[in-house]
Amino acid sequence: MSLMPVDEALERLLESAVPFRTVNEIALGEARGQYLAEAVVSRVDVPAFDNAAVDGVALRYADLGEPGLTLPMPLRIAAGDPPGTLMPGQVARIFTGAPVPSGADTVLMQEDCEIAGNRVRLPGRDTVTAGQNIRPAGQDAARDDTVIGHGQRLTPQAAGLIASVGVPRVRVFSPRILVLTSGDELQAPDESPLPGKIYDSNGPQLEQLLIQSGFPNVQRQHLPDDPAIIHNTLTRALTDPQQRPDVIISTGGVSVGEEDHLRAVLEQQGELDFWRLAIKPGKPFTYGRVDDIPFFGLPGNPSAVLVCYLMLVLPTLRRCCGADNVLPEPFCLPADFSVKKPGKRQEYLRVRCVPKNGALVLEKHPNQSSGMLSSAVWADGLAMVPVGETVSPGSVLAYWPFQVLL
Ligand code: AMP
Ligand code: MG
Repeated sequence: MSLMPVDEALERLLESAVPFRTVNEIALGEARGQYLAEAVVSRVDVPAFDNAAVDGVALRYADLGEPGLTLPMPLRIAAGDPPGTLMPGQVARIFTGAPVPSGADTVLMQEDCEIAGNRVRLPGRDTVTAGQNIRPAGQDAARDDTVIGHGQRLTPQAAGLIASVGVPRVRVFSPRILVLTSGDELQAPDESPLPGKIYDSNGPQLEQLLIQSGFPNVQRQHLPDDPAIIHNTLTRALTDPQQRPDVIISTGGVSVGEEDHLRAVLEQQGELDFWRLAIKPGKPFTYGRVDDIPFFGLPGNPSAVLVCYLMLVLPTLRRCCGADNVLPEPFCLPADFSVKKPGKRQEYLRVRCVPKNGALVLEKHPNQSSGMLSSAVWADGLAMVPVGETVSPGSVLAYWPFQVLL
């Protein structure tokens, strides 16, 4: 059976993406990293009034003349004060952020003037530009402008901009994501180690990946390697309206072993769309739907979970939020290692970006086993080796820092 290329799988996933229906209105401070389900429209002009960009004096440009001209300064306007009015032939002491008084059209830096009590010695007109050091009303946002669109992510800068336009609450996509870990070998972290058992690492890893990429509404459940129990658990999750997820992500049980039951249950209870990709790690990746809910069947190996989530699941979740840029463009960096044997699958290597001879190069972790997570913790990102290609020192590879992907 041939393996589906990664690009084709991603294209199919993105085509199948339907907008999430679960939307929450929350306080801006709680919406960190989430995706906006509704554009944010400014309630005010920002800035609300023309204001000084520096500490100095405000005046009429036309009042300037030869260097050394001295004018009276009867007004003092600090940030938060009302603007006041400037008469011809006068200047006003003004501070950063303070409203420019009516009549003034220019602000000089205090370093360019000599302030002595209520009088100021001014520089010559030819050293000054009319309108300088004034931040005009509405330059950041005008009232009724859309400042952040639907499907945009709430970065810290976006949160600041939204707050600045007087909007305290936002509507965000809040899909309920059911994470199903599977395997009779798994035990919970608070149990003492039992023979033949391992601690579940996929559950905590996936939960953190989801939270960090803007999807905090995560429920976790464990499944044994028992088709009847898997079937019943899924049925319960789908029929209870309180529990019904928007997305299901499972780990393990989708490979070709006799104890891999998840794919069979998916086929029986829903539809399998595709299975087995030309991706390394992550070949058993499975995608389908149960009762119209997208179902991502990730492999069991923890580094395969990481790669499949970042390269396939997360772009799809982003598309369901209406985002355009679902997979960031990679950086192109030279490898400082070799891969001698051309592969049959597109490989994502755990690498680090390090300085060497004044430039950046990629260093590969010596152990790329899909069952290992320590190499994924050592790494700061993933480098991609296309199908059929080899790598020698200096070969340029696509590289995504984890921080950029998340
Ligand atoms: P499977 O695809 O179910 O055959 O699992 C492949 C490998 O991943 C096996 O070595 C499993 O023990 C391991 N594995 C499966 N699920 C987890 C998990 N939640 N945490 C850590 N390892 C897992
Ligand atoms: Mg298993």
